[in-house]
Amino acid sequence: MLSKVKSCSINGLNTTDIDVEIDISNGLPTMNIVGLADVEVKESKERVRAAIKNCGYEFPMKRITINLAPADSKKEGTHFDLPIALGLLSASGQLLEYDYSNTIVIGELSLDGRLNRVNGVLPMLLSMLQKGYTRVILPKENLQEAKMVQGMASIGVENLQELITFINREIELVAHNGGIRELSEDEDKDVDFSDISGQEALKRAMEVAAAGAHNLLMIGPPGSGKTMAARRLPTILPRLSFEEALEVSKIYSVSGLLDPEKGMIGTRPFRSPHHTISTIALTGGGRIPKPGEVSLSHYGVLFLDELPEFNKQALEVLRQPIEDGCISISRANGSYTFPSKFMLVASMNPCPCGFFQTKSGIECSCTPQQINRYISKISGPLLDRMDIVIETAKVEYSDLISKRSIESSKEIRSRVETARGIQLERYQGQNIHSNSQLSTRLVKKYCNLESSAKDLMAAAYDKMKLSARGYHRIIKVARTIADLEGVETIGEAHIAEALQYRNVSKMMK
Ligand SMILES: [Zn+2]
Repeated sequence: MLSKVKSCSINGLNTTDIDVEIDISNGLPTMNIVGLADVEVKESKERVRAAIKNCGYEFPMKRITINLAPADSKKEGTHFDLPIALGLLSASGQLLEYDYSNTIVIGELSLDGRLNRVNGVLPMLLSMLQKGYTRVILPKENLQEAKMVQGMASIGVENLQELITFINREIELVAHNGGIRELSEDEDKDVDFSDISGQEALKRAMEVAAAGAHNLLMIGPPGSGKTMAARRLPTILPRLSFEEALEVSKIYSVSGLLDPEKGMIGTRPFRSPHHTISTIALTGGGRIPKPGEVSLSHYGVLFLDELPEFNKQALEVLRQPIEDGCISISRANGSYTFPSKFMLVASMNPCPCGFFQTKSGIECSCTPQQINRYISKISGPLLDRMDIVIETAKVEYSDLISKRSIESSKEIRSRVETARGIQLERYQGQNIHSNSQLSTRLVKKYCNLESSAKDLMAAAYDKMKLSARGYHRIIKVARTIADLEGVETIGEAHIAEALQYRNVSKMMK
């Protein structure tokens, strides 16, 4: 007997619909899986065998061939267990007919027949919907995630037994229609910009960075509030749109990081990996490539605290995703691309002891060689990609005890969202969302400078020995400063402020 069940394979974020074909014929009892199946898929045999027996059904002691078609695409993961089990039960006459023509089946089986949650459900369903599938049978734990997909009816199942009785029309199971559109905000209510006393220059720099999604580097002595400020950045970033949230959630789905209760990522990611992180964990990779930190911070913030402590090689690898907004991982069996449009925020001390040329009153105890070695861990090209470099200072005592009211994150965020709104409208149809994404061609199109601003820029270009990239980054930051003011033509004051954020001469000497 031959039976066929529909499923889906996922490699990176690429998906293919798969026919799981099962043939049972007379012969010595064997079970073979063909069709470019990975180790995990082959192990499925043992799980399926145990699950069927433990649910009280008969495992056919015959010659079983399982084909995963098309045979030219690689199949990985454990989610083929369920379609294989259904196919076996159907081919051995233990299941009634079921129409799989528009239905996808995914799920991993435990030995006792329970269904375990699988990774990558969201990207699989989104692309299967485009191929005309409108129904999915999957583990109950993946149901919240499936409900995000408008137009897909999802049947969440707890165990194999339940599904068998459903297909044999002994019980009813509810199909949930997808289409959740509102995002659950998951913000840390305990952190707010009003917690930061003084530090006006730093707060302004963060507002500009947030408004245009610019990269930011903070340099200052220990205890000058760099980490504290970075942790509060998400509270002033514009809220995610539904489409952005869907894209972020797809990456988390593949990584197995979605909360089964909530199902969707509703706030911009803030990732802060430790400096001992490996290059692969940062960029993504592994035997079955998984997204790295650069992709997990897509549409959010990648915060690297104590930048010079990171492995120099890992930092260099960051250059490509910063420029391209995506990262490609090459494997023998093909290449995988994950999106990585993140804001890079980094912090560092000015020298190993932390007090070089700071107004803290503490003498720096480092030798020039030590300082040089420390600074040189950050290469010129990486530094060139930091749009805003800001020096932080120790909090003044008067600021610390001042009772003056300080702006809350809510007030700052409303200005940031207004400025982003201007950008979204301006760049309609250009496939970009913020000033930081402007290409050289688009800078020419959208960044008009007043004549005095042009003069200032020309003088600075020579004096500061800017690179072409550096020049464009200054204009982009000035664009954001003008947008925060609601002004279309970039003026001298906007350029002047942007230049000030570029003053890294102390580091580049
Ligand atoms: Zn020092």
